Amino acid sequence: MNLKPQIPQVAHSIEGFILAPEIDEAPETPIHSAVRDILLQVGEDPNRQGLLKTPDRVARMYGEITAGYNIDPEKLINGALFDVDYNDMVLVKDIEFYSMCEHHMLPFFGHAHVAYIPDGKVIGLSKIPRIVDMFARRLQVQERLTSEIARFLDDTLHPRGVAVIVEGQHMCAMMRGVKKSQTRMLTRAMLGAYKDDAALRSELLATISLERSAE
Ligand code: ZN
Repeated sequence: MNLKPQIPQVAHSIEGFILAPEIDEAPETPIHSAVRDILLQVGEDPNRQGLLKTPDRVARMYGEITAGYNIDPEKLINGALFDVDYNDMVLVKDIEFYSMCEHHMLPFFGHAHVAYIPDGKVIGLSKIPRIVDMFARRLQVQERLTSEIARFLDDTLHPRGVAVIVEGQHMCAMMRGVKKSQTRMLTRAMLGAYKDDAALRSELLATISLERSAE
């Protein structure tokens, strides 16, 4: 069974990745009729002026915010692995991300901090935010987003250790129920040396919060 959502192939780009040619109007897709159904079911009139183009806008938007399903990881890496004689921590922090909670199809967003300790290989700096984007731009839960980023780097770089820390705010928690709008969720994935070595973990956490407090 194909579990991929059906999305129109409209123009969208992620930091320079053009995923499909630009066209003026997205062809009618099942998303268009589904959105019309939702509008009707919530008591709206899909034919009123302000809503006429909403199904098309939503269909295009889903193309963009779920673009991660269509990215080829091999192409994303695109030879940006380099042999380097450097064996200390590499940390890319405060990577902004926007994702969609798979339980409510509402956004969650925040920052990811990605660290690894190379074992002879490093990856181009710009690739790490793109890897975060590739996994964020699909239906997710924050826990899986965190571990997918970590596992991908582990499989690609075979480093001594990988650590991914994600801080996210979830619209489904902010808009609904208890409405604790400032609550942030923290998830982390620690692999290899970061899993085994408590000193490495505290060094990483200290580095992240040290830089935080200096801001
Ligand atoms: Zn949710």
